Amino acid sequence: LFVAFEGGEGAGKSTQAHRLAQWIRERGAEVTVTREPGATEIGKDLRYLLLHSGRTPVSPRTEALLYAADKAEHVDAVIRPALDRDGVVITDRYVDSTLAYQGAGRKLSQHEILRLSRWATRGLRPHLTVLLDLPPEVGLLRKDGPRDRLESEPLEFHQRVREQFLELAALDPDHYLVVDATQPPEQIADRVRERVKPLLEN
Ligand code: C5P
Repeated sequence: LFVAFEGGEGAGKSTQAHRLAQWIRERGAEVTVTREPGATEIGKDLRYLLLHSGRTPVSPRTEALLYAADKAEHVDAVIRPALDRDGVVITDRYVDSTLAYQGAGRKLSQHEILRLSRWATRGLRPHLTVLLDLPPEVGLLRKDGPRDRLESEPLEFHQRVREQFLELAALDPDHYLVVDATQPPEQIADRVRERVKPLLEN
């Protein structure tokens, strides 16, 4: 089983990913919790370059290629091997983040970003994507000042990102759970478990 958590800044993805993992482990399955960018050795370097190095921002296409490189390594070195062992994989961000940030955010073609992402991931798609939806002004306030380059982008950027996430979910409702991320974490965790439960029984 492959589950992705998606959403904007401060939506609580990593908290919910870990809660879900804990709950699944209690049911006896092997669970790998991972994230993008930065899950692999080269991914950590890419994450630093993209978010924390303080370098002059690169062009949107360069940014998209660096995220694609992170994703290719993530799938080949972490996600695929874990799925091949019959484990459950829970990732904090995946292809939808690239469609939202590099596509809608940086205004690159959705179609081209999707092709690039499909190539990088060899077409591997999650069985379920949990979208933790939150108005960006709420999410950004949850952060204690910008911790990385993206969090200092203008609000319109984050609004485009949010709209894109919602649009992707609306296009394929069978593979998505959209949760209002302003709810208390326990309530969100309950909704997620309820949706994942039948998938574990398959
Ligand atoms: O999920 P997390 O907060 O760790 O993400 C790190 C940063 O990378 C965020 O600011 C996010 O907006 C950015 N990001 C991005 N494009 C992606 C994935 C993450 O701009 N494809």
